[in-house]
Amino acid sequence: ERKAALAASSGPGRTSDGHLVPLLANIGGPADLPAALEAEAEGVGLFRTEFLFLDDSAKAPSEEKQFEAYRKVLEAFPERRVVVRVLDAGADKPLDFLTPADEPNPALGVRGLRTLLDHPEVMAAQLRALARAAEGLPVHLEVMAPMVADRQDAKAFADACREAGLTAKFGAMVEIPSAALRARSILQEVEFLSLGTNDLAQYTFAADRQVGAVARLQDPWQPALLDLVALSAEAALATGKSCGVCGEAAADPLLACVLTGLGVTSLSMGASSIPYVRTALAKVTLAQCRRAAAAARAADTAADARAAAHQVLTGE
Ligand code: PEP
Ligand code: MG
Repeated sequence: ERKAALAASSGPGRTSDGHLVPLLANIGGPADLPAALEAEAEGVGLFRTEFLFLDDSAKAPSEEKQFEAYRKVLEAFPERRVVVRVLDAGADKPLDFLTPADEPNPALGVRGLRTLLDHPEVMAAQLRALARAAEGLPVHLEVMAPMVADRQDAKAFADACREAGLTAKFGAMVEIPSAALRARSILQEVEFLSLGTNDLAQYTFAADRQVGAVARLQDPWQPALLDLVALSAEAALATGKSCGVCGEAAADPLLACVLTGLGVTSLSMGASSIPYVRTALAKVTLAQCRRAAAAARAADTAADARAAAHQVLTGE
């Protein structure tokens, strides 16, 4: 089945009427490159750099070790976008030497960019390694921060990137509702947004992503989540910037069409999902995607949102 999906799908992500939606890969490191290339990913939309830090939770990997891993990834995508996320430690990804051990609510504590702002030497080393890794390569490097809450966070990250001498686009992940609500203000400091729908759902519904009992609220078809996606995409459009999705939501072919209708400009997912999303997009027009998005947002439950979008997109 996977082979058939791969064979039937090729070329850039686009709707049947030619609206381009680049389909990018989520990767954890160089080991994921073959699958991304086989699926014809148009670049990398989320390079989770945490894996480099997992070998030794007592200290950060050396700048040299980071350089080597980043270089391999950047070399694999000439003339393409590669979006690297700086270390997202804490909460579901704790690191002994960085994450406070005594927090009552780690998901609401020092994690993501907050950790890096408390340990500026760790962020600086990572950004320097990235700057060196991109030297002389034709890649379009973009760097983004996880867990940006407001404009002050976005500015602190952009300042750190500039100080490290990085020539790249700087972006902010939208994973906290405040960032979606004030996306325009964040876009004063950075050049793109990337929606991390896994954490955005967690924080929107006060539903821990690691607790199965509240999985109903983690459903990315929840209309409230779609509203926050729409707010972010509208802010990006109004300022001439891009707004991608790199959470699990992008890997659902039907939802990928709805996200496109909401104004999202690229979709990043595990490589194995790319053929399915490419095939789904190729069957619908942009106008259909927009109607499906409006129908989903008009619903009151995740199940109804999905059914309404399905009806618009397939006529069934
Ligand atoms: C997300 O939160 O949606 C995301 C892409 O980041 P992670 O799953 O690594 O937290
Ligand atoms: Mg996240």
